[in-house]
Amino acid sequence: MNPFASISTLPFELPPFALIAEEHYRPAFLDGMSEQLAEIAAICASADAPTFDNTMVPLERSGPLLTRVAEVFFNRSSSDSSDFTNALEEELAPLLAAHADAIRLDPGLFTRIAALQEQRDRLDLEPEERYLIERYFTEFTLAGAGLDDDDKARLRDYNKRLSTVTTRFEKNLLADTNDLALVLDDVSELDGLTPGQISAAAEAAHERGLTGRYVITLVLPTSHPYLAQLTNRGVRERLLAASRSRGIRGGQFDNRALVLEISRLRAERARLLGFDSHAAGVTADQTAKTPEAVADMLGRLAPAAARNARAEQADLQAQIDADGGAFELAAWDWAFYTERVRRARYDVDTAAMRPYFEFERVLQDGVFYAANRLYGVTFTEQPDLVAWHPGARVFEVTEADGSPVGLYIIDVYTRDSKRGGAWMNALGSQSTLIGTPTIVCNNLNVPRPATGEPTLLSFDEVVTLFHEFGHALHGLFARVTYPKFAGTNVYRDFVEFPSQVNEMWMLWPDVLTNYARHHETGEPMPQDLIDRIHASSTFNEGFFTSEYLAAALLDQAWHRIGADDRVTDVAAFEASALAAVGLDNPAVPTRYSSTYFAHTFAGGYDAGYYSYIWSEVLDADTGEWFAENGGLTRANGDRFRSRLLGVGGSTDPLAAYRHFRGRDADIQPLLDRRGLN
Ligand SMILES: [Zn+2]
Repeated sequence: MNPFASISTLPFELPPFALIAEEHYRPAFLDGMSEQLAEIAAICASADAPTFDNTMVPLERSGPLLTRVAEVFFNRSSSDSSDFTNALEEELAPLLAAHADAIRLDPGLFTRIAALQEQRDRLDLEPEERYLIERYFTEFTLAGAGLDDDDKARLRDYNKRLSTVTTRFEKNLLADTNDLALVLDDVSELDGLTPGQISAAAEAAHERGLTGRYVITLVLPTSHPYLAQLTNRGVRERLLAASRSRGIRGGQFDNRALVLEISRLRAERARLLGFDSHAAGVTADQTAKTPEAVADMLGRLAPAAARNARAEQADLQAQIDADGGAFELAAWDWAFYTERVRRARYDVDTAAMRPYFEFERVLQDGVFYAANRLYGVTFTEQPDLVAWHPGARVFEVTEADGSPVGLYIIDVYTRDSKRGGAWMNALGSQSTLIGTPTIVCNNLNVPRPATGEPTLLSFDEVVTLFHEFGHALHGLFARVTYPKFAGTNVYRDFVEFPSQVNEMWMLWPDVLTNYARHHETGEPMPQDLIDRIHASSTFNEGFFTSEYLAAALLDQAWHRIGADDRVTDVAAFEASALAAVGLDNPAVPTRYSSTYFAHTFAGGYDAGYYSYIWSEVLDADTGEWFAENGGLTRANGDRFRSRLLGVGGSTDPLAAYRHFRGRDADIQPLLDRRGLN
């Protein structure tokens, strides 16, 4: 008996992890896909005219087996992967892509949805039902469902060619990144790095057959973290130059021709779908709606960010001059002198904070405490419930009146089988239609301490925990009818908003004093240290905002070209795009140059890299609302929960925002927070 074949009988329908074995996944996926295709075929075979109940409802109910197996498998392949999951994932990827296309490009299904879209004003629909039709219609249209057969064939050709060239871009980038790792001969050249970092560099050299030398491997963004530490200016220059030369050296790993081809193919595909540009097609299905709206927002921020970066540059130059360095600040000096100025001016040493951030206290007395004060919910660990790994802990979430909300699972520690970073996912999503209980998961990558030692988090790890927990609350609190709108199923340029908001409580005075206590003495974090954290909050924000905006604007520029535009020179295109918005300061390079901008050219964030700051406008404006209305109270939490978190994706997010805030979001709080006034 395959455990995926039926609904779990465990509390909250927790998947029966103890019973699931490797051989259960593949057949469940294959059966799940064919079951869903049969369900879709049955919808289309109906001789009755399309109605909401005979088309949208069965479409939303379709594929329960596929949903069950996919939730468990993709959680596992991210959090506890193996050769088995890697191989199955590779086998499944094209099958699942073809399965999604088979549904979205099904002419019979699209005809029915299009008919409902056309009649939607005359049908007696609930707002969520009407929105469901509109969302499906838009998504299917953007995927090409409305094209005739010839154009559908052309679309498939574009998609196929794009998947080939974006994969090649990614492979070239990986190869060139490895090839350009910095090789150093003498340990003195590594001065400024910690002993651990130096032995890692020696080990990396040994692995490459360069025993006795040192290798610094590159990271994806332009700026390497070691640039803040390396005292040898020549080594810093070489490290930054290596980073920036990825994909532009000529030879087999050069990505320039691919950048031109990818942007051209996307523009042509957009024209086929009826858009002026790829950016127009992407933003049509986001809260931004148009590339002009994105350009307007980024354009408002860019001049102030550039101006602040120039002021920071003057400070750094003053530090260089005071040190007797007879040179002009260059891009490779920025991080190094920033650290010097930060220590001198604010005396903030992030290492000194760790003893106040013991994990269990942060979780229980910080993260859970803030949620309890705001929303009345409590979290009770359920050691009898087994998750996917012994390190994954299960908590039952309960309302103030004792009624159940769902399960929250947290898997804290890093391990070889877990991918990097931190994220939230769901093993069960609320919807009235299906009635599935909610199970949300947070995965972090905190290094496990030595046996018997406490887990002391860094400042950034505490931010991350509050952030990911914000996504978890979004998943837990949504109360929608249709699965399509469950929890965090919202637009990409909106999804980070609830998680960014939850970060606010980390340094909120009532919360901080409740959890930030020395793990040995129990003493609260000294007020003086807290003050210095607040005082330094806008430090170097001119640089960070500028390098981010430069990348976001480049991403937009490449995807606003029309199908007939001919760009032939990557470097010239980049230079003129950055100069047009005043972000061409040579001391502040873009976070990614085009030839190593994987977010946009390998895909995923193409024409969408703006999303991070887009949702931060709402976040900062919400922070101001909480501050104006008394902060951490049940009344405030309930309003935020019912009007924003609770609606999931079931309504237009900006309308939900207006309902919460009483007006549209104002950009001013973001400008204040980032010092961009
Ligand atoms: Zn997030």
